[in-house]
Amino acid sequence: MKYEDYYTWQENIPGFGKEAQEQLKNSTALVSRVGGLGGPLAFSLAAAGVGRIILAHGGELRPDDLNRQILMTHEGLGTLRHEQAAETLQRFNRDLRIESVGENISEENVSDLVGGADIVFSCAPLFEERLLMNREAMRQGKYFVDGAMCSMEGHVLAVDPGISTCLACLVKEPPAYWKRRFPVIGAVSAMVAQIAVLEGLKLLTRFAEPALDRLIHVDTLAMRMKKVRVLRDPSCPHCS
Ligand SMILES: [Zn+2]
Repeated sequence: MKYEDYYTWQENIPGFGKEAQEQLKNSTALVSRVGGLGGPLAFSLAAAGVGRIILAHGGELRPDDLNRQILMTHEGLGTLRHEQAAETLQRFNRDLRIESVGENISEENVSDLVGGADIVFSCAPLFEERLLMNREAMRQGKYFVDGAMCSMEGHVLAVDPGISTCLACLVKEPPAYWKRRFPVIGAVSAMVAQIAVLEGLKLLTRFAEPALDRLIHVDTLAMRMKKVRVLRDPSCPHCS
C-alpha cells in the first residue's frame, strides 16, 4: 500500500484531484489545543493527509475530559495529553509528521509555533489564546481558522490574512463574562471541528472557496446552520 493510495476517494471530489492532495501533503498545520474541538479536528487533518501537524496542548488527561477527547483513552488518564494525541494520530497515519508541544499558546511560544505552520487552527477555550493566535497569524500572514463552541452552539471563522475579516475585527478584548468551564457534549465540539477542517482545507488548496467574511454559526438544538456576514474593521491593528 502506497501513501498515494490513502486518498483516492477524496481526490474524486470535484475540484480536488491530485493537485490539492499534493498541496495538503506539503502543508503544515498548527492545532492548539487538542481537546474536544482540536482532537477531532487534528484527526480529520491526519485523515485528509495534511503532511505535518503540530499539536500544542499543556496538561494531563482527567476523567472529565473523556466525554469528548477522542484521541485519548481511559488508559491514558493522568498522562500528558499532547503525547497521547500525537501517538494516536501517528498510529492512524504513519506517513505524516506529527509533532507535539506540551504547552498551551502563550506570548512566549506563539511566534515560533505559528511561524512553523502554513495554517493555524485555533481550538482553545480561552479568548486570550485565540486572540494571540489570531494576532500572530495575521502578523506572519498565515491562514487562520478559529473554532469555538458552548453548550449546543458553535462558531467557525476562516481568515485569509490581510484579505478577510479576522477574529480581532469581531472581538477586541476577552469578554469578562467568559468562564473557562462551559457545557460541552463531544458531538457538538466534533461537529464544529469538522466545519473548521473543511474551511481550512479550502484555504490551503482552494478546491472550493472558503466562507471568508462570514461567521459560520451552528445551532444543534434547532439543527440550524447559517452564515452571518461580518465586516472588517478598517482600524483593526492586526489585519489592516
Ligand atoms: Zn482584523
